[in-house]
Amino acid sequence: MHSFRAELDQLEQSGLLRRRRTLEGPQGVRVQVDGKACTSYCSNDYLGLANHPDLIEAACSGARRFGVGAGASHLLCGHGSAHEAAEQALAEFVGLPAALLFSTGYMANIGAISILAGRNDAIFCDRLNHASLNDAALLSRAKLRRYPHLDMAALESLLAREGKRRKLVVTDAVFSMDGDIAPVPKMLELCERYDAALLLDDAHGFGVLGESGGGILSHFGISSPRIVYVGTLGKAAGVAGAFVAGGVDMVQMLVQRARSYVYTTAQPPMLAEALLASLKLIGAESWRRERLLKLADHLKSHLKSALLPSDTPIQPFVVGENEACMALSARLQEEGMIVPAIRPPTVPKGSARLRISLSAAHTFEDLDRLIAALKNASAC
Ligand SMILES: *Cc1c(COP(=O)(O)O)cnc(C)c1O
Repeated sequence: MHSFRAELDQLEQSGLLRRRRTLEGPQGVRVQVDGKACTSYCSNDYLGLANHPDLIEAACSGARRFGVGAGASHLLCGHGSAHEAAEQALAEFVGLPAALLFSTGYMANIGAISILAGRNDAIFCDRLNHASLNDAALLSRAKLRRYPHLDMAALESLLAREGKRRKLVVTDAVFSMDGDIAPVPKMLELCERYDAALLLDDAHGFGVLGESGGGILSHFGISSPRIVYVGTLGKAAGVAGAFVAGGVDMVQMLVQRARSYVYTTAQPPMLAEALLASLKLIGAESWRRERLLKLADHLKSHLKSALLPSDTPIQPFVVGENEACMALSARLQEEGMIVPAIRPPTVPKGSARLRISLSAAHTFEDLDRLIAALKNASAC
């Protein structure tokens, strides 16, 4: 039998062995890790909602009303009125005709992409797209073409070469490890010119971008029947799961055929109830988004040269080598600050980085401590 020990040792020696931290309480900016109180810069709970009392109450009352487990897939008998209400609210929230809930963003991408492209079709992906999009593209069996990050000229020349196949352009709306935003209006223009569909994975934009948190479409003020929108609900929304939104027929096709929808148990309805509470807060409390922008500006004004350019709560501090990046992350943790080191294969070789993610629940004093520690450690 294959021994994994040598492989694991190899990972350890290359500084690539990953270790999980165990939180001893709720997610948030103040976390308890190994008995120690720390300030966290590593969650995607951008708006500070994961532990909000309104969401907790909604989940509890949802559990009392609907129980805990959904008990079956949506097509058997696991689809409930809470799911139905959440889907309507989500479609309205992003301004598209229809939406469908999935249990995770990973599954939403797998399901949507395999419906939008198959063996005889072509998919065009940004090189820095999220792993779930790449996996989905591979599973679809479509011809996969990857273009350099944000390179619209390269995308256009690939699209121009594809001839009559059905085409699907796929991109992170906000890139998860870089924090930059895809040029969606330009991409939509190309999709129109070459008759392609455009799938936007807005995992890091939903709730964060746009005046009321509607995400990337509201940020750019665009809409189009070519757009298939994927939003995830475990990040800014503070809950779990994801949704695919777009035209009514596309969504109905997902219900019929998306394997990661059909062959899986429905999400607990209590989570759909928590999501409804979350959507209310996201829409109403724009101070959370305003605060995120102010926090990002503060960080950038002090660490400008070391940060990748980003106007989102994802602020990458590039270190370069894996070991140095790990050491810096470890040193910060000793000082009570958790900032994750992101290494290959998640990011390209030689671009290991600390991925600072901000939350509306951070204070300016929190950031000042982090800035001082980073300046101290790296003389930037
Ligand atoms: C987190 C993430 C996903 C996966 O979403 P989950 O709900 O966590 O499975 C998909 N795409 C992007 C860009 C992400 O950052």
